[in-house]
Amino acid sequence: MTLSNKQQQFSLMVARLILHADRQGYGLTLGEAWRPPEQALRNQRAGNGIANSLHTLRLAIDLNLFIAGEYQSRSEAWAPLGAYWESLGGSWGGRFKPRADGNHFSLEHQGIR
Ligand SMILES: [Zn+2]
Repeated sequence: MTLSNKQQQFSLMVARLILHADRQGYGLTLGEAWRPPEQALRNQRAGNGIANSLHTLRLAIDLNLFIAGEYQSRSEAWAPLGAYWESLGGSWGGRFKPRADGNHFSLEHQGIR
C-alpha cells in the first residue's frame, strides 16, 4: 500500500468516526489534521509533541468533543469513540503513555502511532 493509499484510507476512517459520533449523539468539531514538519519539531522542542508525528504524514487528526453542548477536555470522555476508532483499525491517543491524548486519532505507520 502506498502512503497515498493509506492517507485516503485514513480519511475514510475519519468520516466513519464522525458519522458514528453523530449517531451516538456526540458533537464534534475539527482540530488539527496536517501539521508542517517545522511545527512538529517546534512542538517537540517545547515538550508537547514529537517531531515525527503522524500529523506530518496526514495520518492523524485531533478533534474536539461536545456532550450535551459541553466541551470535553478529559481523555476519558472520548473512550467510547476511541474504542470505535480502534475497531476500524486505528490508534487512539487515549491509550498513549505517559500522557493520554484522547482527542488524537491516527493510523499507525512504520511503527509510529
Ligand atoms: Zn494529534
